[in-house]
Amino acid sequence: MEKIVALCKRRGFIFQNSEIYGGVNGIWDLGPLGVALANNIKKQWWESMVLLRDDVIGLDSSILSHPRVWEASGHLRSFTDPLVECKICHERFRADHKKEIEEHTKTHPSAGSGQADAWTDVKHFNLMFKTFVGPIEDDRNKTYLRPETAQGIFINFENVLSSSRVKIPFGIAQIGKGFRNEITTSNFLFRVREFEMMELEFFVKPGTDSKWFEYWKKERLNWYLNLGIKKENIKLTNLPKEDVAHYSKGTSEIWYNWPFGGAQGKPWFGELEGVANRGDYDLIQHSKLSGRELSYYDEESKKRYVPYVVEPSVGVGRAILAFLIDSYSEENPSASIRQAQDKGSGQDRVVLKLHPKLSPIKVAVFPLLSNKLPLAKMARAIYDNLKKSIKDSIAFDERGNIGKRYYSQDEIGTPFCITVDFQSLEDDTVTIRDRDTTKQERVKVKNLINYFNDKLK
Ligand SMILES: [Zn+2]
Repeated sequence: MEKIVALCKRRGFIFQNSEIYGGVNGIWDLGPLGVALANNIKKQWWESMVLLRDDVIGLDSSILSHPRVWEASGHLRSFTDPLVECKICHERFRADHKKEIEEHTKTHPSAGSGQADAWTDVKHFNLMFKTFVGPIEDDRNKTYLRPETAQGIFINFENVLSSSRVKIPFGIAQIGKGFRNEITTSNFLFRVREFEMMELEFFVKPGTDSKWFEYWKKERLNWYLNLGIKKENIKLTNLPKEDVAHYSKGTSEIWYNWPFGGAQGKPWFGELEGVANRGDYDLIQHSKLSGRELSYYDEESKKRYVPYVVEPSVGVGRAILAFLIDSYSEENPSASIRQAQDKGSGQDRVVLKLHPKLSPIKVAVFPLLSNKLPLAKMARAIYDNLKKSIKDSIAFDERGNIGKRYYSQDEIGTPFCITVDFQSLEDDTVTIRDRDTTKQERVKVKNLINYFNDKLK
């Protein structure tokens, strides 16, 4: 895990926010490669959830909303975590994080036998960030940064119904920022205070909800598998009733094998994505508080009903973390892997074996030697042409030797590297080196675009 955090900083995936001021816990910034990876993940999600389906449409609601939204949703009342405070140093912890409390207690050896009294009683702390709309900071103008994007979908349910010709079953998908004032943050991007989430609210006829719940569980698991997450590192699990939100009729989680969180820092299967059967709770609540009837008129049965909702929901940051961890590998090239053209890179290589659709950079182009003008010129022309045709991120690198360039691209997950060498000048071919096998093949320059369109499809 430390290696991944270090790689993220060194290569510009993830930076600690406000680092020059000492940083803020649980708030992270995406660097140049991080934003590319995040955009690719969001693009894949949007493609599979909205663009390739007939029954899902998109929405982008605001982060701020009427405070009654949070009253209706139950967040004002029950979106809390149990909090205890150390009476000695006033550090605060989640009361259910027993391990952290135990660890912390050990840092006060002087407390001795008085340890039992060292903690305050459990208080309930609301996780929503408060703010004010307009210049007057009083209770009437108080509102909250949204802790989930789902409510923005429910409050627009009527608008979507009346403006588009959707018929149940249908879904509304949204990608957007959410905020949770976590008492403690941990494990890099795993538990953070500001995050982006990808949520779908899928509205169904009551009675068909269990079927759709099963459908979306499978669909979401497959999305990760199709994007290269290893089978042995991911699984579906049903949460026991007592761990499920009060309104939920069932919640499943897609668990990932995180390299942290277990006893003594051992790996641990924990939540990557949640899939919940929210029932009709949200629409009924908003109907009650707004006085608007949020229901659906079924033309076949000529009856009105309040649909049930199935919701798959995942944080972009958690997805980034899972894809990075899963694709990270260290290889010793002293074996057969070290190809002739890899010479110069005697070191072990670090490879992010990201699915090419997720790789921040798709192709890197090199002249074999940077000081030979014809090579550099030809490589530059290929780079320009690919950039225009593939319309994705292409890199050009002429620093150091070829081995070092490969090493550098492997480390950020670039699936293909093109080298322009002396033979290229004679027969108009280049070598393409595959990141995972390190095998190389010669391809005609005029066939490059077809080659990559095929490989990156
Ligand atoms: Zn303390």
